[in-house]
Amino acid sequence: MLYQRSSALFDEAYKYIPGGVNSPVRAFKSVGGVPVFMKSAKGAYMTDADDNVYIDYINSWGPAILGHTHPVVLEAIKKQAEKGFSYGTPSELETEIAKLIVENVPNIDQIRMVSSGTEACMSAIRLARGFTGRDKIIKFEGCYHGHSDSFLIKAGSGAATFGNPNSPGVTAGTAKDTLLARYNDIEQVEDLFRHNQGEIAAIIVEPVAGNMGCVLPENNFLQNLRKLCDENGALLIFDEVMTGFRLGFGGAQEVYNVKADLVTYGKVIGGGLPVGAFAGRNEIMNHLAPKGAVYQAGTLSGNPLAMRAGLTTLELIRKDENFYQNINKTTETLDFEIGKILNSKNIEHRINRKGSMMSIFFHINAVSNFDEAANANHALFNNFFHQLLANGIYLPPSGYETWFISDAIKEKEIDRTLEVIRKFEYS
Ligand code: PMP
Repeated sequence: MLYQRSSALFDEAYKYIPGGVNSPVRAFKSVGGVPVFMKSAKGAYMTDADDNVYIDYINSWGPAILGHTHPVVLEAIKKQAEKGFSYGTPSELETEIAKLIVENVPNIDQIRMVSSGTEACMSAIRLARGFTGRDKIIKFEGCYHGHSDSFLIKAGSGAATFGNPNSPGVTAGTAKDTLLARYNDIEQVEDLFRHNQGEIAAIIVEPVAGNMGCVLPENNFLQNLRKLCDENGALLIFDEVMTGFRLGFGGAQEVYNVKADLVTYGKVIGGGLPVGAFAGRNEIMNHLAPKGAVYQAGTLSGNPLAMRAGLTTLELIRKDENFYQNINKTTETLDFEIGKILNSKNIEHRINRKGSMMSIFFHINAVSNFDEAANANHALFNNFFHQLLANGIYLPPSGYETWFISDAIKEKEIDRTLEVIRKFEYS
């Protein structure tokens, strides 16, 4: 494959856009090489600026669960566009999508739309703080909740104590209110509650983590978080930006049968247009402006084009009663068959999978937290990534990311993917 045009486009972009990209991981910094510039996407495939075609396992980092540019969603967006791009007023469409979600997702009475997952998580913790009158939150190492200040915190020398900012620009004052614990380590969470009694507003967690590669909750981790929140008067926030409408229509709450107090959404909820949302019980959501005192707003919140794309996507999913069964089965097949191939090549690995999310870790046999994810052989992942890319298979460009399987990936695409992996040369 040739990447001449991508290369030229990257050079040009580099002059005008910081690092040449509008979101860092796109720059291929982790895997090396020149990022591939896409020019179109349809179904299971993306086409780059040099006309190379790829089977896509990122799917825009999750939103394109139906595959790219689904014809029904496309038609709905076109029709909506003729009626206006943005009103800045309420519209019936917003109630329609809110009603569909509230009626079909457990434990939520009201939902507020925003324009990204970052906004959703940032607003959810503000609401949790406003509701409880407490300042501190607990987050887990390796979980990502968007780039608002409170979440860009990493632990000091492995201790789950007060965090240090891991981005310049995040103040020490903000960092001190974010407490860190290891994912799947309930004892660290218990310790944090013990040492910060009456001060913790909320725990925020990715119920299935997707930002350190795919890492599953183990040993009733989510149930135990629920219990600790109840015992300590803190709220449990599920960040379902990845898992919402992906693990099932009711997301991780439904799949793991654990009630969250607040839930954040993004990705699938907007069907590829910029949407995020946060939701919860009346008792909590009533604290939001204009009803309550916790302020939150957005010029483009509930944007009609975005709402139409999201609503149509969610309706299509709901209409197909085998939807989740099918994408989960596709993912299971990939997991199983890739595992067989890697075993036949004696490449030690671990594939973590939940529903239609999965990732491969090399040279390690279990990954249940960030340290273990970091101990995987990332150089080998980078090698794997580039060999697949050169053969038209597009994986997320980092061993810390999750593959998102879409409904457009069928037998033909799986066969082709496996054929390429069979030729993988381990050097
Ligand atoms: N939470 C999670 C779990 C995410 O994966 C992401 C983005 N990948 C976000 C929040 C932030 O969403 P956005 O990029 O739309 O701001």
